[in-house]
Amino acid sequence: MFDYIIIGSGFAGSVIAERIANVLNKKVLIIEKRNHIGGNCYDYKDENHIIVHKYGPHLFHTDYKDVFDYLSNFTEWQVYQHKVLAFIDGKKVPIPFNFNSIREVFPKTLADRLERKLLEKYQYGSKVPILELKKTDDEDLKFWADFIYEKVFKNYTAKQWGLKPEEIDPEVTSRVPVYISRDNRYFTDKYQVIPKDGYTKIFERMLSHPYIKIMLNTDFKEVIKIDFENNKIFFMEHEFKGKLIFTGMIDELFDFKYGYLPYRSLNLKFETLDKEYYQEAPVVNYPNDYDFTRITEFKHIHPVETKKTTILKEYPKSYQPDKDIPYYPVFTKENRELYNKYKEEAEKFENLILVGRLAEYRYYDMDDVVKRALEVFEERVR
Ligand code: UDP
Repeated sequence: MFDYIIIGSGFAGSVIAERIANVLNKKVLIIEKRNHIGGNCYDYKDENHIIVHKYGPHLFHTDYKDVFDYLSNFTEWQVYQHKVLAFIDGKKVPIPFNFNSIREVFPKTLADRLERKLLEKYQYGSKVPILELKKTDDEDLKFWADFIYEKVFKNYTAKQWGLKPEEIDPEVTSRVPVYISRDNRYFTDKYQVIPKDGYTKIFERMLSHPYIKIMLNTDFKEVIKIDFENNKIFFMEHEFKGKLIFTGMIDELFDFKYGYLPYRSLNLKFETLDKEYYQEAPVVNYPNDYDFTRITEFKHIHPVETKKTTILKEYPKSYQPDKDIPYYPVFTKENRELYNKYKEEAEKFENLILVGRLAEYRYYDMDDVVKRALEVFEERVR
């Protein structure tokens, strides 16, 4: 009945389903545990007509023209340059920490000296990861790097990951480098946009094809069985000989046989307030104060005329299997080794393809996932 089965309807699963139907003219079934499509990109209009991101803020940014062009088939865009402030010592300063942030927290003479020394050492416009900056032997720059490490990274990373910045893969903290610049934007990618009608509409348009069927509210384990002895896949008791594209948690696929892969989860608390705006930026990070990491105010992202506003506070927590949503893979050397054991197991199956943040245990951004799904489609699905 189906040539392909896809588990999960986030970007990884939806892009591949769309390609299978439109390019290959083949039939595909998507199995989705939740009562909606779109994975963690899912958004909706709340009772005040504000588009909110149900699973936390999603800001699209990419340097990949092919990804931008591909997604443009399914949405119009609003130009949107994301800005983040961090609450440090009672002031809100631009993040990534840059020359403007320096001026906000240090007296002028010190700020002048730091800027001069930084420009002697780094090219204007360069981005330097905090763990790199800390290696300097210049006394002023060391003081400055330690300040940023303490005030911006140390406690935020402890809240977000339960780890010190140096205990987690450098890939994580270098996502937010220190910026030798006066550019206050969070990202510097060429394409920074927000879908005009929200993300959910992108998924609806991608998946509206007669050859794509979607089974919502269905845990894949209800319909898929895996025969580990013979490396075979069964769908509704029949052997499935088409390709299975799995975008969920790889450890769950293999019944956690090598143990649980650690993930980080979040408690998300939405609040609607009786005021026009709550804060001056779309996102304000609170590295050192309170238990939440950041507050997002959605009206800044999707402007709408209403007297109310909706904000979101994110409280990170460790992930408990079967209870929480696995938002982030936790990168450490040990966890990657455990992941590789599962990956080797998956490679024994001829017709199993893993793609996405959970199945590949990678900290993919939205554009990375779309890029990866388009590549996997060309290389392995076709
Ligand atoms: N980070 C930090 N302080 C900040 C912002 C980021 O320490 O004010 C670190 C932290 O470890 C975080 C990582 O940088 O998890 C990546 O931040 P990003 O904003 O990319 O996280 P996401 O939006 O994916 O949750």
